[in-house]
Amino acid sequence: MADVIPFDQRDGSLWFDGKLVPWKEAQIHVLTHGLHYASAVFEGERMYSGRIYKLQEHTERLFESARILGIKIPYTVDEISKACIAACEVQGTADAYVRPVVWRGSEMMAVSAQQTKTHVAIATWSWPSYFDPETKMKGIRLDISDWKRPAPDTAPTAAKAAGLYMICTMSKHAAESKGYTDALMLDYRGYVAEATGANIVFVKDGVLHTPTPDCFLDGITRRSVEGLARIRQIPVVERHIKPDEMADFSECFLAGTAAEVTPVSEIGPYRFTPGDISRALMHDYAAEVRREKSLVTL
Ligand code: PMP
Repeated sequence: MADVIPFDQRDGSLWFDGKLVPWKEAQIHVLTHGLHYASAVFEGERMYSGRIYKLQEHTERLFESARILGIKIPYTVDEISKACIAACEVQGTADAYVRPVVWRGSEMMAVSAQQTKTHVAIATWSWPSYFDPETKMKGIRLDISDWKRPAPDTAPTAAKAAGLYMICTMSKHAAESKGYTDALMLDYRGYVAEATGANIVFVKDGVLHTPTPDCFLDGITRRSVEGLARIRQIPVVERHIKPDEMADFSECFLAGTAAEVTPVSEIGPYRFTPGDISRALMHDYAAEVRREKSLVTL
C-alpha cells in the first residue's frame, strides 16, 4: 500500500459546506457528533467518461438515508447533484469515484444531537474506467461472516448510514486475514443477505435469484443489473435465500457501484463457475455505464 497517497494528503479541491475548498484544508474537529455517534450517511458514485451514472438516484438515496436518521440536509437534491459534478470538474477527472458524506457537527457532544448543524462534503478521486473481463471472470472468493445484518427494527437498515459499516469492516478484515477477498453476510433470520459493500446475485437454470432487500441496502447497481437481465429475457426472482441453497446455484456475482458486476467463484464451502450469464451481464453493465452498446450475445 506504500504507493497509495493518504486521502487527507491529496491535491486539488473538494466541495465542503457549499463551496469548493483546497483539499488539504477540508478538516473537521475531533469533537464531531458524526465521528463519535455515527450520525453520518454517505453515497458512493462513479463518473464514467464525464457522466455520473444514475446521479439522481444516488442523490435521492443520500437524502432518504439522512431523512431516516432524522438529519436535515440544508441543500436541495439538485444543489447536491450539481455539487457532485462540480467536485469532479474541479479535479479535472472524467472517470472518478464520487463520495458525498453528510454528518452532524460539534454543537452538541452527547447522544442527543438536536442542536447540531448538518455538514456536507463531496470528494472525488480518479478511478480509471478500466475493464478487464478475463481477470474478472476468474471470480473472487468469499468467506461467510459471523456477523449478521441486523433487523430493520434494530438498525436503520434502509439507510446508507456510516454505523452500519462497523460490522462490514470487521467482516472484511476477518475474511482478508484468511486469504479471502470479501465476506458474505447472512441476515438476522439466517438468510443470505449481501457482501460487505455490494449486493449478491445467483444463477440457477437461466434464472437470476437475489435476496429481497428488506434488511440491507437496495443497491442501485443490483436494480440496473435486474433491468439488463430482463432486456435479455432472463427472469429475475427476488426472494429469501437460505445458505444451503447455494449448493444448487451455478453462477454467482456481486453487484455494486465499486464492484460493478464481479463474478464469485467460492463462498465458504460452496463453489460457482462464472459462466455465460455473469459474462453477459458484466459486459452489459460495463456498456450501460459508458452509454455504449453491449456486444455480447448469449
Ligand atoms: N450493499 C452495501 C453494504 C454497499 O455498501 C453497497 C455499495 N453502495 C451496495 C450494497 C450496493 O449498492 P449500489 O449498487 O447502490 O452501489
